[in-house]
Amino acid sequence: MSKRSIILGRTAFTIFALFSLVISVTALGMWLRRVNLSDQYLWVSSRGPADGRPATMRGWELRFEAGVVRFERTVQEIDQPEVDFWNSERNNRFKHDADAPGFRRPLTWPASGMTSRVYVDGHGIGLATMSRSIPLSRFRSFVVALPLWLIIALFAIPPLIWEIRYRRWILRRFRKGAGLCANCGYDMRATPVRCPECGAIRRNVTNSIEIVG
Ligand SMILES: [Zn+2]
Repeated sequence: MSKRSIILGRTAFTIFALFSLVISVTALGMWLRRVNLSDQYLWVSSRGPADGRPATMRGWELRFEAGVVRFERTVQEIDQPEVDFWNSERNNRFKHDADAPGFRRPLTWPASGMTSRVYVDGHGIGLATMSRSIPLSRFRSFVVALPLWLIIALFAIPPLIWEIRYRRWILRRFRKGAGLCANCGYDMRATPVRCPECGAIRRNVTNSIEIVG
């Protein structure tokens, strides 16, 4: 690997670790907040019937409910025109809502005619697709739910790896500067090429020998 690609890889990993840290800390914040609120962030857009197509309502929802984060995507098609409703501006916007603390909606809705295929549902982990098809109306939904502690823990791993690597890098740099083996810390001032303790070879010294040879 060239030095350039190593630096690029390190930079990419640093950005990734930083991104992970932001998610983990945000999840921690929402986990602490669960005591007071069940936040819901929704984007709802609707479009009236046009060109023989049904009226459509789409929703992307991110809910924080009792220590569980839930993402839901819904699409509802209705063959009846309700022009005022579908085209009203309030249906094409970002919404923030909140329920009472501890509130958690079930993975399946108790709606009439709703069929669901629940793959997982337990311990805050959920994955389901739901659909309903009745005369003049079709509804389908996709849900993923995960406990916040799992998000906090999973996204904390990359920053922790970054931290360990960074500390190791600092230690190796210090050892090299002090004339010690970067690998084990053995005093290499008398044997600058190869560490007599662990057998590690100093790269920069090896390189200069290779050039000479
Ligand atoms: Zn060594």
